[in-house]
Amino acid sequence: MNFSKSKKRNIIYLLLVVVLAISGAAGLFDLSENTVSSSNGSDQLTVHFLDVGQGDSILIQFPNDSVMLVDAGPDENGAPVISYLKKQGVEKIDYLVATHPHADHIGGMAAVIKEFDINKVYMPKVTHTTKTFEDMLLSIKRKGLKIIPARAGLDILDRDGLQATFIAPCGTDYDSLNNYSAIVKIQYGSTSFLLTGDAEGISEKEMLDNSVDLRADVLKVGHHGSSSSTTPAFLKSVTPEYAVILVGAENKYGHPHQETLEHLADAGVIVYRTDQEGTIIFASDGKQVNKV
Ligand SMILES: [Zn+2]
Repeated sequence: MNFSKSKKRNIIYLLLVVVLAISGAAGLFDLSENTVSSSNGSDQLTVHFLDVGQGDSILIQFPNDSVMLVDAGPDENGAPVISYLKKQGVEKIDYLVATHPHADHIGGMAAVIKEFDINKVYMPKVTHTTKTFEDMLLSIKRKGLKIIPARAGLDILDRDGLQATFIAPCGTDYDSLNNYSAIVKIQYGSTSFLLTGDAEGISEKEMLDNSVDLRADVLKVGHHGSSSSTTPAFLKSVTPEYAVILVGAENKYGHPHQETLEHLADAGVIVYRTDQEGTIIFASDGKQVNKV
């Protein structure tokens, strides 16, 4: 092949960016545990599925007053997420989860990390070469935070009938970034939530093979309702009462796909969509889940 000088320069630059991204991220990963401060307040668990258009952002207010944010939406200023959190009185994020490096999930991360006190940051161990991803890494570094690698079996929180646990990613090598998605299962008393990021059929099958308890009252439907996710076998194991689809109106991907909506309808699941309802909130007292 005969490359021009500028093409060669572009390739060398690209390689350099890749190497820097990988080495930079590797240096930020740390398995050490930090302590989390929390006080006993309300006995209610509240899960807010934010309307951020085509993307994900989920705020969880635990009954012990600690706060978790799963993804930060597509907006690079983080504006919708930051203003929503502030309206809820959030000053500190105890657990920040970036499910995977796609911009519709981590677009607002750098701004959110800059704005709030953060205790723990969880991400799957995979890198991406976009500016959005590098901005997030830089903001984590600037705050002196370390990334805790999200992987199946890792507990985020486990006390007094309240648990938050990663049940994916189960593996370490996938073709699609979506299958690296960090999946969080929250259990409070007899109620539960399953937040699946953009995990696709491959990850769903691995979770089924792992025989983890997938049952959940509320399922955050994987990958904005794409037909790549929510396989019938997975749905049968989760048996949700409610499903939430985080999706932008008239998005270019055609999400949610008809096939997924049919699977959910066939299973008798009540479906709520952010493109139709705006932000969707559920609350649990440990015995019952209700839409707020
Ligand atoms: Zn997505």
